[in-house]
Amino acid sequence: MRFLGNTEITWRKGRFKMGYGIYGLTFNTLRGGNIKRLEFFKNPKGEFTHLSGVDTWTVEEWFAALIGELGEFANLHKKVRRGDFTIEEVISALADELADVQTYLDLLAARLRIDLGEATMKKWNAVSVRVGAPIYIDAEDWHFTENQGTKK
Ligand SMILES: [Mg+2]
Repeated sequence: MRFLGNTEITWRKGRFKMGYGIYGLTFNTLRGGNIKRLEFFKNPKGEFTHLSGVDTWTVEEWFAALIGELGEFANLHKKVRRGDFTIEEVISALADELADVQTYLDLLAARLRIDLGEATMKKWNAVSVRVGAPIYIDAEDWHFTENQGTKK
């Protein structure tokens, strides 16, 4: 195991294997937790809001929630640019907003029965081929390869 900056590199089956994906959160964990947790959400009146799971809200409602979180991120970052805060003062809050974006993005995908991990791998690898990048991602990590990034 070697380290390049703060990124772990290991050799495995003749390929570089980079950190971040090795011990990180998986799409499956996020999806499973997201779906199961929905039944616990209540509005300020104490009423359960997602008793029908992800289908309680329409695609448009999940999309609005996703955009709302992007807006929260944008508003806070705007205040950094304006000088209200330093980036160091709000980096944790910005990370929270991006985490909210990720969570709602998964719920939007779940509402459409899209496997977001599979969709991301498929599209991401297709772009690698398109741009001629010898890098692809799979369920374990990202890898350098001699064969995947062939420009067509
Ligand atoms: Mg938020």
